[in-house]
Amino acid sequence: MEAKSQSARTKVVIVGGVAGGASCAARLRRLDENAEILMVERGPYVSYANCGLPYHVGGVIEKESSLLVATADTFRRVFNIDVRTNCEAVWISPDTKTIELRHVETGEVTSESYDKLVLSPGAPSVRPPLPGIDLPGIFQVRTVP
Ligand SMILES: Cc1cc2nc3c(=O)[nH]c(=O)nc-3n(C[C@H](O)[C@H](O)[C@H](O)COP(=O)(O)OP(=O)(O)OC[C@H]3O[C@@H](n4cnc5c(N)ncnc54)[C@H](O)[C@@H]3O)c2cc1C
Repeated sequence: MEAKSQSARTKVVIVGGVAGGASCAARLRRLDENAEILMVERGPYVSYANCGLPYHVGGVIEKESSLLVATADTFRRVFNIDVRTNCEAVWISPDTKTIELRHVETGEVTSESYDKLVLSPGAPSVRPPLPGIDLPGIFQVRTVP
């Protein structure tokens, strides 16, 4: 009986752990307490307030930690979600329903199967073709690091 219920669990892999990905993971857990949920995030943080970044840069929000809505540990403890930070999705095989994940620091590549895949990787900033746009000291404000 136990083995049967285990094998019937839906496994969901979510790529991107900030606005869309983290919201999806929390909502999914509320809808299905048995689902196996894996959320992978390329950066070191999940679920932070992108919208607050300009306020942090401008000194209005002083502490970097004030940007963090929830930590990876919160997701593990409260929602029973497997969260992997510094972990980048590098290849998807829809035919076999597998995804390859690369650890950003070690370069180690592992493979995970999935039943459902959610892609929430955000988007790169537009860099208008202005003179000097590539000079050092010109940054895109998208992530906490
Ligand atoms: C500075 C700033 C201010 C903003 N202000 C507002 C505002 O005031 N109001 C408003 O409504 N919206 C605002 N936004 C927009 C809002 O933050 C975005 O619409 C929202 O974050 C998009 O959510 P997302 O999940 O699609 O992408 P993101 O929140 O950007 O998250 C995507 C995540 O996916 C990760 N990722 C990408 N590729 C991979 C991969 N291959 N493997 C693993 N992880 C990957 C990235 O590291 C990133 O952390 C602002 C955005 C910025 C940057």
